Amino acid sequence: MSLPIDWIKPGAGGIEVAGGAAFVDPSLPKPLAIVTHGHADHARAGHGRVIATPETLAIMEARYGPTEGWPVAYGETVEVGDVRVTLYPAGHVLGSAQVLLERAGERVIVTGDFKRAADPTCPPFVPIACDVLITEATFGLPVFRHPPASDEIAKVMERLAESPERCVLVGAYALGKAQRVICHLREAGYDKPIYLHGAMEKLCALYEAHGVALGELRSATGAEAAEMAGHVVVAPPSALRDRWARRLPDPVLAMASGWLQVRQRVRQNNIDLPLVISDHADWEELTRTIREVAPSEVWVTHGSEAGLLRWCELNQIRARALHMVGRTDEGEA
Ligand SMILES: [Zn+2]
Ligand SMILES: [Zn+2]
Repeated sequence: MSLPIDWIKPGAGGIEVAGGAAFVDPSLPKPLAIVTHGHADHARAGHGRVIATPETLAIMEARYGPTEGWPVAYGETVEVGDVRVTLYPAGHVLGSAQVLLERAGERVIVTGDFKRAADPTCPPFVPIACDVLITEATFGLPVFRHPPASDEIAKVMERLAESPERCVLVGAYALGKAQRVICHLREAGYDKPIYLHGAMEKLCALYEAHGVALGELRSATGAEAAEMAGHVVVAPPSALRDRWARRLPDPVLAMASGWLQVRQRVRQNNIDLPLVISDHADWEELTRTIREVAPSEVWVTHGSEAGLLRWCELNQIRARALHMVGRTDEGEA
């Protein structure tokens, strides 16, 4: 039996709510957008008005300039026509939210990107019971098991101790992954200055302004090679093989991404020190989450849909793939 939920229409350009009154993460400009988080494949420029957490709105302003925001805190409910909209933490990056849409007793959750693993930069994902769960499945295959981030960070600390004349250059996506890696290093007791590529500075300052303490950060651009020896340098993955990296003291090339569980990706990127640190749910997290929220139906926005659809079928949960276009979690995963 299919649910009679006809007020949510997933389309190529986003998830339409109540006949177009709002769209969740639309890929084209809309009069009213509900934006789950600040990554560019979810938060686009040019909407009339944006419902999002204050943190996501700040990230959008930093990236796109002035945005007419309708700030909604976690747990707060607003009304769009006859639909009640509530945002809950998604545990993905600073400000990331799941969207609960309620109408006439029917409950739909759009997770946006999410994870269940501990992340000191944002509050943890909250499982919310619903009729329809609309989820990503970036790592929707049983082979994907992300190790604890602390194990990966320990490898960085070991490498620094082994080679004090070199630096460890960590390639990490500028929004979310970079700040999370820095926080995990601090949790592990690394209290030396961390050097940043210029592309990281603005978002690190934004995180700090929202209460995420990152410790002492220095610009790598103005620094002498010698002072960076024995230190961690954080840069966008694209900078690892850039001219920019040549001025660093014999860098150990590290990268933080859930994709680095795949050996071929490590080879392709010529990474010395792969760090399997992901901001997306792995297979266990995805299936645990579906069990916990116990939906009647699962709709999969993007990722490895086939594996998750099969799992749902085996567990007698109706499921469908939405084939959302424009979602790419390559860089940020
Ligand atoms: Zn994301
Ligand atoms: Zn995404």
